[in-house]
Amino acid sequence: MSLDSMIVTHVVDGVPVNMTLAQKNEMIRNQIVPEPIRLVMIKTRDNCQFCRNPHGDTQVSYISFSCHMGFISCPDCYDQMIETRNKWIDDFGYGSVKHLAGKDIKIRRSSGQIEDDWTLNPDDFMVFYDGGQEIVSCKKKGVDVIKNVFVSELIELNPM
Ligand SMILES: [Zn+2]
Repeated sequence: MSLDSMIVTHVVDGVPVNMTLAQKNEMIRNQIVPEPIRLVMIKTRDNCQFCRNPHGDTQVSYISFSCHMGFISCPDCYDQMIETRNKWIDDFGYGSVKHLAGKDIKIRRSSGQIEDDWTLNPDDFMVFYDGGQEIVSCKKKGVDVIKNVFVSELIELNPM
């Protein structure tokens, strides 16, 4: 018996279905991966980006807290949503300065002073654009101070 014809379980619209491994692989290949959406004015029940027949309280997971952007799932698809969010962050989070994630970084304040006790904002992975320039959100360590900073400036102040 080939591996492709082995019977496995795959959750389709929240219902476990038995199928061959080949069929399961085909379904996964054709699956459209949801993108982050704006989490305002959303249905708080029976709402999901990952299945067609959701039941229960809507779960949310942010990729940008300040812009209210992220993913929505039903309780059954919660793990899949977290996996999709983490993959999105791995692929797209912080744009060109992903390598600075989790590190102490320098930024230039509006006064012109350079401060070195900042990090990329751990609640905000989105890249914004202003006049074609990338911008990311940064956070001062230990306090609730947020500043949007041009990526070009971050690269200049925090060379590899
Ligand atoms: Zn669902």
